[in-house]
Amino acid sequence: MFLLMFVISLAGLASFRDFSIRAATEHTRTTAEMIRVALTESMLNGTMDTRHSLLERIAGVEGLDEARVVRGDAVKEQFGEGIAMETQADRLDYQVMITGEALYTLVGGYLNPRFRATIPYIASSKGDVNCLNCHQVKEGTVLGVVTLSASIAHMRTAGIITVIVLVSVVALFSIISLLYLRRILQPLALTAQEVEHAVKLANSGDFSVRIQPHTNDEIGAIAKHFNTLSTGITNKLTEIRHNVACLVQTQPLETTDLLTDTANTVSGLVKVSQFKQAIEEDETSEEVFQRISEVLQAEFQFNTFSIYEIDSNRKQIRSVCVDGIAQAPIQWCSPDIGDKCTACRVVRTGHYIDGRENTLICRSFSHDAQSQGYKYLCLPVIQSGGVGSVIQIVLKPEEEASAERARPLVESYLREAAPVLQAKRLMASLRESTLNDAMTGLRNRRFLEEYAETLVNQCKRRRTAMTLMMLDLDYFKTVNDTYGHDIGDAILIDLAAIFMANVRESDLVIRYGGEEFLIILLDTDAEAGVSVADKIRAAVENHQFKAGSTLLTKTISIGLADYPNDGQAFWQALKFADVSLYAAKENGRNQVVRFSQELWVSKEKY
Ligand code: GH3
Ligand code: MG
Ligand code: MG
Repeated sequence: MFLLMFVISLAGLASFRDFSIRAATEHTRTTAEMIRVALTESMLNGTMDTRHSLLERIAGVEGLDEARVVRGDAVKEQFGEGIAMETQADRLDYQVMITGEALYTLVGGYLNPRFRATIPYIASSKGDVNCLNCHQVKEGTVLGVVTLSASIAHMRTAGIITVIVLVSVVALFSIISLLYLRRILQPLALTAQEVEHAVKLANSGDFSVRIQPHTNDEIGAIAKHFNTLSTGITNKLTEIRHNVACLVQTQPLETTDLLTDTANTVSGLVKVSQFKQAIEEDETSEEVFQRISEVLQAEFQFNTFSIYEIDSNRKQIRSVCVDGIAQAPIQWCSPDIGDKCTACRVVRTGHYIDGRENTLICRSFSHDAQSQGYKYLCLPVIQSGGVGSVIQIVLKPEEEASAERARPLVESYLREAAPVLQAKRLMASLRESTLNDAMTGLRNRRFLEEYAETLVNQCKRRRTAMTLMMLDLDYFKTVNDTYGHDIGDAILIDLAAIFMANVRESDLVIRYGGEEFLIILLDTDAEAGVSVADKIRAAVENHQFKAGSTLLTKTISIGLADYPNDGQAFWQALKFADVSLYAAKENGRNQVVRFSQELWVSKEKY
């Protein structure tokens, strides 16, 4: 604005100066012509002698500082030097006399500026008077010059005043314009600032800022529309967040970024749904547990954790996975929980246990881990109203806060896993039941059919033998006949317990038929097997079975063979054991017979 005013001032001054000079030039030219006419008239009328007073009176005209006529050389030669004034030529006069060109210039400096004009009188035969009639000179000769000068200080003052007025008017107009523009633009600028602020906060998820409508025009309408939009987004987001929170069964945090928080939870739920689809297609609960382990690591970045499976019938806990490693032994709890599942506080209470505040809340948490500063969060997987599994997340101090944030989503995963785990467990137990004998709890013949191949492979891999022992109670029919079927059943159950007590845990006891049993001693050849068989035979002989109020003693016959020394094929070895059993019966019962080739040769006998 100042620059504009400065330019306007300069332009004003320049044009005023130009105008003043042009006006002064015209005036002096007219005056010079009048002097020439007056001098010519004086010459024609013969009153040249009085030209002195004429020139003095012209010089005295107001506004003129000087008016002087200087004779040229030709005139001086013809008419003499003339009066004193006519001889006072200065440098510029001579210059004009030589060039014949009029000279207009400013002289006198800044303090006393004057306009000076030096105009030549040129002899001419044309025009109103023929100069050559009186002057004996050639056409175009410079007869003399007239020099006029006038002060232009008043013009300069007028010019400055004009510029000041002009600048003042422009400045005033500019200020008024600025004030008017400000009045119009201020609400727009304020609204723009507030919108910018609100959008910045909205970007970080805060839609609470509202914009003040400053006017009732379009700008005010922008503010109102923005506020309506923000309110709409906030309400919808709150509703969505609330619904999502219901899905993950948690309360939304009021302080968090609503948009990001909701988006994260929704994408978490999508992953939960994908997880659900994946586990439904899994075959075993081991695979489901493996997926839970992967989720804990990949989705929540938990690398130290345990997954336990609870056997509520036997009151035992089985370690399914530790820190992502399947079937690893219990590490983050006292190993005692293995045989006593109620030592686990989650199993006892049925709800999650937060050991971040106080690690002693569950006394089974590993003392080593506790002394290293680890905390824990244990979550139940509820199946059939009880705790089917427990997920124990072991936390480093820096993970404690994230564990609380992750808990609702981890629980969502576990809620989806619970029915699938339950179904898998049911399937497994159904399958298990088809392989077990319900009365004695021993494995049944079907189990042997499914498991025989595995047993054989195991033997081959370990390059060991196994003893196949066929057992049959002696004269059992008489028990049924004498005491009834129930007593017979009770004796069979007692018998199973005797067998189990006399073999290793890794050996297999199978109810092969009605009162016929098969015992498979792993990594045991027939030689060693004979002594185990005799131990069993003696145990049966020495046992007193209850038959109502009386006690009974029974004996048992045992035939055994070994795979692969006696029979090269499993079923062949089994057949050989059976042949040996019949030999034992034939030989008088209550005895152990080891297979020999002769028995096979004379098998027709049995
Ligand atoms: P031995 O073997 O010494 O030749 O004579 P045994 O009387 O034991 O004869 P065998 O082995 O042929 O008899 C089988 C009997 O076992 C027939 C049946 O009444 C009885 N038995 C088979 N299964 C059961 C069962 O589940 N419960 C009861 N109580 N008896 C059974
Ligand atoms: Mg029998
Ligand atoms: Mg029998």
